[in-house]
Amino acid sequence: MKGREELERILARIDGKGYKAYKDIQGSYLFDTYILHIDHVQGDPFAAPSRLRVRVDQRHARIPAEFYNTPARRVACADFLTRSFARAIEEVAGGSRGTGKSGLIAIDRCGQEILERTAMVVTDEYVEARIVLGLPARGRTVLGKEARAMLFEELPAIVEASLLYKSIDGKSLRKHVEVKEDQVYLRSKLPEYQLAAFIADGSVLPRESGISDRPLRGEGVVPFVSPPELAVEITLPNAGPVKGMGIPQGVTLIVGGGYHGKSTLLRALERGVYDHIPGDGRELVVTLSTAVKIRAEDGRRVEKVDISPFINNLPNQQDTVDFSTPNASGSTSQAANIMEALEVGAKVLLMDEDTSATNFMIRDVRMQQLVAKEKEPITPFIDRVRQLWLELGVSTVLVLGGSGDYFDVADTIIMMDTYRPRQVTELAKEIAREFGTGRLSEGGGKFGRIKERSPLPRGLDPSRGGKTKIQARGLHTIQYGNWDIDLSGLEQLVDASQTRAIGEIIHYAARKYINGRATLRQVLEQVEGDIENKGLDIISPYYGQNPGDFARPRLLEVAAAINRLRSLSVR
Ligand code: ADP
Ligand code: MG
Repeated sequence: MKGREELERILARIDGKGYKAYKDIQGSYLFDTYILHIDHVQGDPFAAPSRLRVRVDQRHARIPAEFYNTPARRVACADFLTRSFARAIEEVAGGSRGTGKSGLIAIDRCGQEILERTAMVVTDEYVEARIVLGLPARGRTVLGKEARAMLFEELPAIVEASLLYKSIDGKSLRKHVEVKEDQVYLRSKLPEYQLAAFIADGSVLPRESGISDRPLRGEGVVPFVSPPELAVEITLPNAGPVKGMGIPQGVTLIVGGGYHGKSTLLRALERGVYDHIPGDGRELVVTLSTAVKIRAEDGRRVEKVDISPFINNLPNQQDTVDFSTPNASGSTSQAANIMEALEVGAKVLLMDEDTSATNFMIRDVRMQQLVAKEKEPITPFIDRVRQLWLELGVSTVLVLGGSGDYFDVADTIIMMDTYRPRQVTELAKEIAREFGTGRLSEGGGKFGRIKERSPLPRGLDPSRGGKTKIQARGLHTIQYGNWDIDLSGLEQLVDASQTRAIGEIIHYAARKYINGRATLRQVLEQVEGDIENKGLDIISPYYGQNPGDFARPRLLEVAAAINRLRSLSVR
């Protein structure tokens, strides 16, 4: 281990030299309270910034073990410190110090969720921040003094202000950890109460805007209140007893007039598979972690998916047991999305009329009379939704303001009325008896077994022009070798660092487990096991160094990305 003086000497020596001279600072240096690892030095001031790690010994950090001594607490504690570090950067860092990224100091950005990330690691021995830094230059000339200011003044001040227990707000840290722990606990309790989801009274569901995930504020916000018939009380380890609306497993319908808050409720349920930060408004909105938002997604590719429970006898004689298409329609894409989700373990389907294909959802009696069953390839969802529940134990929560035909197949009906839920099951059932639909059920027989597919290695090569090319662009696109994977249909993907992780996980799975025999589900469960045992770093090509910015995605989103890869082939 070199002393910090050594780093100072090198910086003085390379001052004014060409940018490549920065390579000399790669290595590890002992500072007063931490070790600075300079793992990777950028090639020029415009390239991706240099990757560093700051490892603070717990003798100095002194984070109490009670904040990280369980998996949930550890994730919450790391998340808190990541935010703390980011805030300190804003307060301390001086901004641009020259050309391109010169002067930049950054750590992965956290949103409203508390996610497991590679940006921060907390153990009994140390706290380690994985950061990037733009080594300063004018043109391509090393600015040694500016680098010295960044590494010897700014960075120590940031570390001092954000990673040492004595400088952080212990109360906020405790709150962060407790809120996370309560959510994990609450979600784990849902099966015992036979619930698919729970929404605590007082929750704030609407968001600031279509592009902001922060809570809506102001006079007009109506906090959530459970209807008495669906109220459940659950006692949490930290918050104590909380009351709220339990959405039972089975088939649940959310009805109500336009603009009364139906989709807002469903979106909160979609996000309820994640834990939220204190003050988000959804800290006690939890959904079973196997809940999947299903929507129509026309144009997507489908590779040998058994969509036959929903679609049969296509006019071109096309096979629907091994259905493939480069360009799915609204209904076939929605059918494929369901079957693929079931294949990897989805137990709750979340659907909204706003994003569903009408002909997939319903075929009413008049249409049944005009277009004979033999001429209609689609068995609408209304005729399968109960089979999904009774045969496979798969629940559905469905937003539907436009058709009362679903009254017949629902177990629970919730009406949103100016953002307030009412339980209207009996009322709706009475209406259903009085006004029969006359519809014939078309779902004869059984839903049937869910087919599992085994991906072949050949479709999963990430090379392009002889080099491995895996790159996420924003939240919704991954370039994987020669292909772009379009993830814009995945509404439960919430963080660009998850998108980055998915790209690497596909490659990791392809290298280690995809062999043409293992099913997609087996492969992804093995990957999950590896992440569980060895940490999220394991997916990175830079394991052992600063691994890059990754946040843990669900297995379900990884599967969805693989399913959307245009080169995928399966057995
Ligand atoms: P629907 O799906 O029933 O047509 P939306 O869920 O899209 O309605 O909600 C319509 C509008 O009402 C949105 O702008 C949303 O932000 C707002 N909204 C939803 N719930 C609430 C609430 N509890 N308090 C205040 N505004 C809300
Ligand atoms: Mg809506």
